[in-house]
Amino acid sequence: MDCPHHPRVEPNGGGEGVVFSIQRYSIQDGPGIRTTVFLKGCPLRCAWCSNPESQSPNPEIMFRSQKCQRCGTCANLCDVGAITLVDGVSRLDRSTCTMCMACVEACPSGALALSGKHMTVEDAVEESCRDEIFYTNSGGGVTLSGGEPLFQPEFSARFLRACKDRSIHTALDTSGHGTWQTLKRVLEYTDLVLFDLKHLPLREASRGNTGEQRPHSRQFEENPRLWRKKGLDQDPDDPRLQRR
Ligand code: SF4
Ligand code: SF4
Repeated sequence: MDCPHHPRVEPNGGGEGVVFSIQRYSIQDGPGIRTTVFLKGCPLRCAWCSNPESQSPNPEIMFRSQKCQRCGTCANLCDVGAITLVDGVSRLDRSTCTMCMACVEACPSGALALSGKHMTVEDAVEESCRDEIFYTNSGGGVTLSGGEPLFQPEFSARFLRACKDRSIHTALDTSGHGTWQTLKRVLEYTDLVLFDLKHLPLREASRGNTGEQRPHSRQFEENPRLWRKKGLDQDPDDPRLQRR
C-alpha cells in the first residue's frame, strides 16, 4: 500500500500520473486566464482541505447520496458484493471493491462517479493547452495544483517542461512539502510558485491540523528556509513567488 507521506512510485517513470481534474478558465490560480491541473495525492491531511477527495493518490469511486435514486442497480450487478443497500441507499465496501467500474457505468443518476484518472504527460498537456490562445491574449498559462504536485514529482516536472517547450507560462501551487531535490527539479520548469504554506512553526497543534507525522516534519519546516536561502523570496517582488 502507498505510504501517504512519501511520493508514490510513479507509473512509467513519471510518464503517467493520476489527475484529479482539469479546470479550464481558472482566474484565481495565477495571472490571466489559466487552466489548472489538479493532481491526485497529498501527504498532508489538513483539517481545512477544500478538496479532501484529492488526498488519496489513487482513482476512487465517489458516492453522492443526494443523487442516489435508490434503484438498487449497483448492488444487484456487483459480482463481489461490495455494495449493500442500507434503507435503499447504496453503501460501498472499498476493501472488497475491485474497481471494475460496472456500477459507475450503470448508475443512472451519476450518484456513483470516478474521481481521478491515469493520464500520460502528453495527454495531460494536450488537454491543458486547448485554451492556448487565451493564455497568449491574457498573460495566462497553466497551473499545476492538487492534491500536492510534489507527490508526483517526475510527472509534475515532465508536465511543466512540456508546457515550457510550448512557451506556456507555468505556475506551481504547492505546500512545499517534498524533498529539496524534488523541489529543485520541478522549479526548473516553473515560472511562478503559489506557495501555500500550511503551518509554521510545526508544533503539536499544526501536526493535528495538517495530519503531518514527526519523521516527515523536517522537510516541511526546512524547505521554506531553503527557499529563503536560495533567494527565492528575499525580494518581495520576485515574480516567481506568491504567497497563497
Ligand atoms: S445505481 Fe446509482 S442511483 Fe441506483 S442505487 Fe446505486 S448509486 Fe443509487
Ligand atoms: S466497481 Fe465493481 S467491484 Fe467495485 S463496487 Fe462497483 S461493481 Fe462492485
